[in-house]
Amino acid sequence: MIELLKAHKIEKSPWKAVNQLSSKYEKYSHEITKIVLEGITFLLNLRLKKAHDDAPLIFKGRIMYNPKDGKSIKLKDWKRLEESIIKYLNIEKSYLQEKMTDDSYFLGTLLNRLDEMNRKKSTLKSFDLKIPEWKKYDYSDFDMDKLEISRQLSGIYLQDVTDRTRSKIQKVIVEGVRNKQSKHKVFQELWDSEADLNRDWDRVIRTETAMNSNNGFLISQLRAEPDEKYIFMKGISSGGACEYCIRFISEKVVILLEGPPEGGEDKVIVEGLEYPAIWPGKSNYGRKPANYWVAIIMHPYCRCSWNRWYRELEEAGMKISNRSKKWGEAIEEIKGRGFKEEDKQFMIEVNMLFKQKLETKEK
Ligand SMILES: [Zn+2]
Repeated sequence: MIELLKAHKIEKSPWKAVNQLSSKYEKYSHEITKIVLEGITFLLNLRLKKAHDDAPLIFKGRIMYNPKDGKSIKLKDWKRLEESIIKYLNIEKSYLQEKMTDDSYFLGTLLNRLDEMNRKKSTLKSFDLKIPEWKKYDYSDFDMDKLEISRQLSGIYLQDVTDRTRSKIQKVIVEGVRNKQSKHKVFQELWDSEADLNRDWDRVIRTETAMNSNNGFLISQLRAEPDEKYIFMKGISSGGACEYCIRFISEKVVILLEGPPEGGEDKVIVEGLEYPAIWPGKSNYGRKPANYWVAIIMHPYCRCSWNRWYRELEEAGMKISNRSKKWGEAIEEIKGRGFKEEDKQFMIEVNMLFKQKLETKEK
C-alpha cells in the first residue's frame, strides 16, 4: 500500500465539483467505518438490544467499555458480530455502487455541456444529480450498458474494501482472543485501525468518481456530436500530476471513439498523423506501469480529465502566432537597417520584409 501511494500521487480533478463529489462519498464511507467500529464496541459490551430483523446493526452506541472489567472477548461473540458486519457493509456497498456511479456519470455529463471556465469553477451544489436524465442527454442502450458495467466494476472494488474491512476487524478480535487481551486493548486496536480502513475506502472512491465522471463526460461528448468523424480531445491534469499523467494525459491530444478500434491497438491515423484513441471505460486495469497506455484516468488516485480540442483552432492559432512573430522580427530587422519608426519608408520596408518572410516559410 505504501509503495502504491508512492507510485501514485493523490491528484485533484481540474473540475471542482468532481473533487467535491468524491469528498462527499469519502465522508460517507468514513461514517460507515465509524458506525461499524461503534457497533462492534457496543456489541462486545453485550449491550445489544434486539432490533427488528431488517436493521443491519444497532449502532448508536458509544464506546462503553469499562477498563476495570478487562474480560477477554469470546470467539462466539465474533461470529455473531461478523454476520452483522457483513450484512451492514453489503447494504452500504450496494448503495454506493449504484448511487456513486450514477452521480459521477451524470455529473460528468452535465460538466461536458459547460464551457471550460464554468467546468472548473462550478460547485457540486449547482448540479441536480437526484434523478439523472439519461434520455435528455441522448444516452443510448449501449451507453446504459456501459453505465451498468461501471456500477458492477465499482461494486467489485467496493467489495474488496468491505472484505478487507471485515478481515482487518476479524484479525484484531481473533488475535485479541488468542492472546487473551483485555477488551480495553482490543477496543484500542479496533479504533487504531480506523484511519487504515478509511484509506481503503478513499482509494476506491477517489478512483471511481474520477473514472466515472470522465466516462459520463466522454459519453456526453460523443452524443453531442453524433456526426463528427474525429472528435479530438486534449488531456488536462491539475498541478502536481505524477509522471504517468504528465506523460500520457496532460496536454496530450487523442481521438475519442465509441469503443476500442479493431485489433486491440489504440492508435488512429488521421491525415498521416498518429493519435492514441480513448473511449469511455478505457483503463490501465491489469497493466503494469511499464505497459501503461493513455487511459481515461491513468492509475489509482488519478483525477485527470479531458477537454474537447479542435485541431483547426490550434492550427489557426499557430498560424496567427507565427505571423505575429514574423511581424515582430521584420520590425526589428528594419530598425536594425537604420530606418526610424517615424519615417514614411519604415512601414513600407517592414511590410516588404514581412511578405518575404511568409513566402520563405511556405517553401
Ligand atoms: Zn492523473
